[in-house]
Amino acid sequence: MNAEIIAVGSELLLGQIANTNAKFISTQLSELGINVFYHTVVGDNADRLKSAIEIAESRADLIIFSGGLGPTKDDLTKETIAGHLGLPLVFDEMALSFIEQFFAARGRGMTENNRKQALILQGSEVLANHHGMAPGMLLEKNGLTYILLPGPPKELEPMFQFEAKPKLAALLNVGRVIQSHVLRFYGIGEAELEVRIQNILDNQTNPTVAPLASDGEVTLRITAGAQNVEEAWKLIKEKEEEILAIVGEYHYGYNDDSLASKLVEMLMHNNLTISAAESLTAGLFQSELAEVPGVGASLVGGVITYTPEAKMNQLGIEKSLLDNFGIVSSECAGAMARKVREKFGTDIGVGLTGAAGPDPHDGQAPGTIWIGFSIGDSDYTHKLQLQGMRNTNRIRSVKFACSYLLRLLVEKGYRKI
Ligand code: ATP
Repeated sequence: MNAEIIAVGSELLLGQIANTNAKFISTQLSELGINVFYHTVVGDNADRLKSAIEIAESRADLIIFSGGLGPTKDDLTKETIAGHLGLPLVFDEMALSFIEQFFAARGRGMTENNRKQALILQGSEVLANHHGMAPGMLLEKNGLTYILLPGPPKELEPMFQFEAKPKLAALLNVGRVIQSHVLRFYGIGEAELEVRIQNILDNQTNPTVAPLASDGEVTLRITAGAQNVEEAWKLIKEKEEEILAIVGEYHYGYNDDSLASKLVEMLMHNNLTISAAESLTAGLFQSELAEVPGVGASLVGGVITYTPEAKMNQLGIEKSLLDNFGIVSSECAGAMARKVREKFGTDIGVGLTGAAGPDPHDGQAPGTIWIGFSIGDSDYTHKLQLQGMRNTNRIRSVKFACSYLLRLLVEKGYRKI
């Protein structure tokens, strides 16, 4: 089965909102093993919507519509599909009584437009809307499957997940369950990871393995289909072991894990405290750690020392060090880590300094970053040469800092969870 998603709404074309519904539906369909070949966006215009439907019918088995099911005049998705397929719109009693109850409970009068929301394409299955009024629909006609979903994500997402997805899974293959699992990697590029596991990627059937790169990280989604959940997980775990035997050294977590959350887990698990002095990241490192609940047990505090004066005044770094080695240097990053650790009395100190870009800074090329750590009697520093835009470089510096520190702690014998 291959799918096309048609998002209806002039505000999408005007750039007022992003087409996050298509992103959500695509992710969900990939879990079912359904390929999405096209995303189409069309304004609130019946003629253009009709031609978008005709094009989609020529190249997809499954067409999913988002938006245009509401009560107003510009909501014309179901009317246009009804006209195109030659199907009448009929009232769905359940949807109608739900809308009537909604207005009665609020003591508000119901207009004819609101009743219109209970109209469905004759012969379609209703997809209940538990978060709004317009019901969704699933219709099979002429060998194609049409799914109509409301525009607001808070209505569309649960409706797709709990109403449409099980029906699609049943259409695809009765009795089969699909499970998926994401492996997260850091410190290896997407291209290199793909080369290293080329054999697995070339010979995949069930489970499938899909790489995806984002913000300097790479993920692999393993998706397996089987007769039951246990069998699907057995297939996933076997594939995971096969992958980790090759690239396990870069693996740091699963699904919604982040590098910062893994670092915080490790700090807390080993009763370690941490502080940071940040220049180019200006607090971003600490902010990332602070997203993890309970981090207060480990993150004691820190300083933003952007200018050379701040580095001297707040941290007590000597002017001669900055003059001799520069601000973007191993010596400066090491001193920042050591001094902030002394200032806050923590087990670990972190220092981040660099040229975020786009211009060189202190004679160093944009993207030159130094990260320092102070632990026990030792300082450790790492140099990065990043190629991204200013903010990407700042975000990546934080991610590298988390991953280097995780590795350093493992090398020093601290226990992972
Ligand atoms: P309503 O009953 O709210 O009118 P509807 O099904 O008619 O719902 P639209 O009017 O097309 O849907 O869109 C309603 C709102 O849903 C939009 O203002 C927007 O906030 C959100 N929305 C619509 N389409 C998308 C999309 N493709 N991605 C993300 N959000 C969307």
